[in-house]
Amino acid sequence: MRYSRYPFKTRKTVGRDLQSKNARLLTQAGFIHKEVAGVYNFLPLGLRVIKKISDIVREEMDATGAQELLLSSLQNKEDWQKTGRWDSFDALFKVKSRFVTDYALGPTHEEVIVPLVKQSIFSYKDLPLYLYQIQTKFRDEPRAKSGILRGREFLMKDLYSFHVNEKDFNKYYEIMKKAYQNVFNRCGLKAILTEASGGAFSKLSHEFQVITDSGEDEIIYCPGGDFSANVEISPVKEGKQCDLGHGPLKRVKTIEVGNIFPLKTKFSDAFGLTYKDKSGKDMPVIMGCYGIGITRLMGAIVEVHHDEKGIVWPSSVSPFAAHLIEIQNSKFKTQNHSSKVKTLGNDVYEKLTKSGVEVLYDDREDVSAGEKFADADLIGIPVRLVVSKKTGDKIEWKRRTHSTGSGQGKTELLEIDEVIRRLS
Ligand code: ATP
Ligand code: MG
Repeated sequence: MRYSRYPFKTRKTVGRDLQSKNARLLTQAGFIHKEVAGVYNFLPLGLRVIKKISDIVREEMDATGAQELLLSSLQNKEDWQKTGRWDSFDALFKVKSRFVTDYALGPTHEEVIVPLVKQSIFSYKDLPLYLYQIQTKFRDEPRAKSGILRGREFLMKDLYSFHVNEKDFNKYYEIMKKAYQNVFNRCGLKAILTEASGGAFSKLSHEFQVITDSGEDEIIYCPGGDFSANVEISPVKEGKQCDLGHGPLKRVKTIEVGNIFPLKTKFSDAFGLTYKDKSGKDMPVIMGCYGIGITRLMGAIVEVHHDEKGIVWPSSVSPFAAHLIEIQNSKFKTQNHSSKVKTLGNDVYEKLTKSGVEVLYDDREDVSAGEKFADADLIGIPVRLVVSKKTGDKIEWKRRTHSTGSGQGKTELLEIDEVIRRLS
């Protein structure tokens, strides 16, 4: 992509209504734009990150044998009444129609998927079944001050599993714990598996919590990795010694990036979802549900991976693999020279693109080198490439690392083939 053509370039300042780090950085760098409180537009750079995260999630869900579908956002009021949640789900948006009864605007999809699969599940031979989607959810959240960490409209991956018994459910639940850890690791985050309230469904659920000061949740956990619980349910106090001798438990602020729940027969009972076992007897289907906030995950990545200059994307979710900058040094800016650099920059851009490398090419004229470098640091693509009079026929390579990290400031001069090799 040629940055000269990008309509949402970096901004020097952002509104004071944007309080959170993720909203400020992502807005300043041209990834998102606030529509109204808790509602964001995702601009081309932001959408690229969402696609990268979604693809990782899809790969990991597909690997468990799950199938992707896409369910409706406008949902049947009667089904929400059957589960009792039309009145009890606080954050439910209710939509009026001029022609029919009201709709629920989907905050989650049990009320849609259970009546749907009831038409396909008859016998034990139809189980187990795992279905998921990546879709926009709507929740009338009381507070929406954490940028894309808490939206009134946000993207979620939600998966629903259907089983013949608890034993089969438990097996899949453990597989999903692994799949979730894979997703968060691949997104550059360390997520702590945490015991949490099971809500109205069961005693416990499991949350995946990422430590950061900007988090709205708090956990008590053992740094040795054998215990973590949300403070909402934990009677355990900070400082207590870990039973396995790992030292004192710690209390920290966190972001909940995922949550998995045993649903038992809560929704199967509401809709009469049963199957015939081997002896022909009707049995209730055992369910689980598994959520990941895709846009919240993007916000969490920014909260963890940034420094005073801007975002530092992990390469797995970066909108581009490299940020190519062309410098036309004004001191030497004769017509002749600047057109030579132009050719070199273009050439590198085209070669990289043809080799399948995703490049953001800052081809702007009349923008200083300093400004281009600052923009590259703000946008946060992991590799910066520079072509200028100084680099000749070679290309300067530099990694975008945390300002406190190692390897900062190290630049190398490389041939184009070596750049392609490293980025492929
Ligand atoms: P929270 O406690 O933060 O309000 P929740 O427990 O109500 O969230 P779940 O129903 O567990 O949310 O939803 C599954 C996942 O969807 C959460 O783990 C989170 O990553 C994401 N999520 C939930 N609510 C929001 C929101 N308002 N904005 C962005 N992501 C959200
Ligand atoms: Mg939750």
